[in-house]
Amino acid sequence: MPDGIYHIPLRLPWSTPSNVNVYLIEDDDGYVMIDCGVNGSEYLDLLNGHLNEIGIRFNDIKLLIGTHMHLDHIGLSGSLRELDIPLALYENSIEYLNEYNDWSVRFKDLIRMAKSESAPADFIDDLKSITTPMYAGKLTRPDVLLTEGKITSLKRKINVLFTPGHDYSEISLHDEHSRIIFSGDHILPRITPFIPVQNEDSNLLKGFLDSLDKVHAVDHDIIAPGHGNIISTPHKRIEQMKLHHQRRSDKILEFLKKNDLTGWELTNQLFPRKLDSLNLRLAFQETLAHLHLLRSNNDISRNSTNGIKKWSLKD
Ligand SMILES: [Zn+2]
Repeated sequence: MPDGIYHIPLRLPWSTPSNVNVYLIEDDDGYVMIDCGVNGSEYLDLLNGHLNEIGIRFNDIKLLIGTHMHLDHIGLSGSLRELDIPLALYENSIEYLNEYNDWSVRFKDLIRMAKSESAPADFIDDLKSITTPMYAGKLTRPDVLLTEGKITSLKRKINVLFTPGHDYSEISLHDEHSRIIFSGDHILPRITPFIPVQNEDSNLLKGFLDSLDKVHAVDHDIIAPGHGNIISTPHKRIEQMKLHHQRRSDKILEFLKKNDLTGWELTNQLFPRKLDSLNLRLAFQETLAHLHLLRSNNDISRNSTNGIKKWSLKD
């Protein structure tokens, strides 16, 4: 990392991914921290230990920026705010506070959609049984609401890019001096981030692909992601991620060429391996994300066949 920028891979309570990347950027009168890990005193102590090793105290941090509203990135923010470190999130975050704090709110629409996509009862029961993990902590209205462009409270030129897709309120941060983009989970080195669908109107995959183009157009040398190693060939990585989604969309169109299918049937064709309940939910949401994208591109539509709504190709 260049002078004045520190990278802390902070342990998570699970194995994939096993760490979240916390970054610190030096400004004139203190440090900006990007993301902070999960809630819990154990994780606060861990973070404190890492900071001590590089000679930074919590007092030296003047702003915590959350790249997006996922618990592995901002779960600990409540404890840090108690230490007088203000939290900044993108301005639309205030619309999603409820669903961050209460996962029964977050998955309400998904349960309805699962029923209408012919998902079986046990899958729906699994969705109904999801509760908010303790690692999320409690999120209240952020102290600072960020908009696109330079963060005015900082001397250093750090620009906010709104890059929704993996989350409704995801941002990337472009540090002009070091030519680094801190991408949160929008761009990751090894895996393509999960793109959720949470309601009938959401088209986060379109947002995600547009956000990739937005980052692609910004002059930068490397990407510092929310998990895993630094990406030294960012433009190539962006192309790979776009190709991944293009292939998946093409596959869906191929399946629909043979038969009209429900979202649940398509999920099972796209992901034929046996999945545990978490991965099955992710697969279902990702399939719907693709269906919504294809519908917005006018490639497919959803029609009733014998009382069941199925997706079909448009001619
Ligand atoms: Zn993450």
